[in-house]
Amino acid sequence: MSLSGAAIRRKKTPSSDQEDAVTARPALLLAWYDRHRRVLPWRPPAGHKPDPYAVWLSEIMLQQTGVKTVGPYFQKFLARWPDVTALGRASLDDVLRMWAGLGYYSRARNLHACAVAVLRDHNGVFPDTEEGLRTLPGIGPYTAAAIAAIAFDRRTMPVDGNIERVVSRLFAVEEELPQAKPVIQKLAATLLGPSRAGDEKSRAGDSAQALMDLGASICTPKKPACSLCPLNDDCAARQRGEQEIFPKKAPKKSGDLRRGAAFVVTRGDELLVRTRPEKGLLGGMTEVPGSDWRAAQDDATALKQAPSLAGVTRWHRKLGVVTHVFTHFPLELVVYTARVAARTRAPKDMRWVPIATLDDEALPNVMRKVIAHGLG
Ligand code: SF4
Repeated sequence: MSLSGAAIRRKKTPSSDQEDAVTARPALLLAWYDRHRRVLPWRPPAGHKPDPYAVWLSEIMLQQTGVKTVGPYFQKFLARWPDVTALGRASLDDVLRMWAGLGYYSRARNLHACAVAVLRDHNGVFPDTEEGLRTLPGIGPYTAAAIAAIAFDRRTMPVDGNIERVVSRLFAVEEELPQAKPVIQKLAATLLGPSRAGDEKSRAGDSAQALMDLGASICTPKKPACSLCPLNDDCAARQRGEQEIFPKKAPKKSGDLRRGAAFVVTRGDELLVRTRPEKGLLGGMTEVPGSDWRAAQDDATALKQAPSLAGVTRWHRKLGVVTHVFTHFPLELVVYTARVAARTRAPKDMRWVPIATLDDEALPNVMRKVIAHGLG
């Protein structure tokens, strides 16, 4: 049975004010969560046990990607591979194809490697501790804590961007991120729901999800709705009227612009493509042939890296450029096009694919933009 916020708030006396507020926070948070939890595709109805496979799958997809984008991908994956055994038996190519468009493709490779490891080393059952989860591919400290708390109610607090914001405001953390992470982690742990002495399990998963939901719906980056917040009695940033200055962040260093060229070659209804090397950025994904991406790339140097094709004597340069922003650098690509005769052979390590079936290829977003520009 859930407690209402009003029932939890006790009558204050001056001497016990601060202490009361601090000890009431976890229960206030859980009471709010019981009434206002978000409905999410990977979240079971209240009172039902979460499926560790669904928790893991959603957590991997949510690394660097928003809830709205992840929803349809999560449902597609779950329909195709309903459990970790099915995913562990799938081919990496199929997983990459299904992942196409979600970005940060090393996650898809790790997702597959992790499913294989769970199947091979753990009989298809996820380890239920943070330490056990950390031994699996693609599961770092945050994801291990999130799965341990949400799927197994281990008493740990995963701190994502939403939680960072709520906690830094609640306690008015002056230190800048990322240096402030350990402090915020410690403070966030004070918001974990109560557990019996000696009992490692608790409503830790609900406490974490309550903070995530609070950050997503009430304690938003701009104009937080403090009047609706269950912790508003005792929020340091609110008392100062300075909610939006938290969390404090060190200025970001953005990478230098890189430039390159991409070559969109058609043979009737087919497009020339190749597969990127397994290791590195967009590893194993499909792309049209292209030049290196360098800070100082000019057209003449880029054209020297065009694919060698019988019958192509000059390339047509499309007007404009395709831009894309990766985590560490922005990219600008010029697009060259050419048409070749039927039966023209693909250069080594390249292949022709029907344009009508491009959706089946593991094409990253940057390549979708390039192809749309080249064929447009
Ligand atoms: S009172 Fe306002 S700033 Fe403080 S935690 Fe709640 S929503 Fe965020």
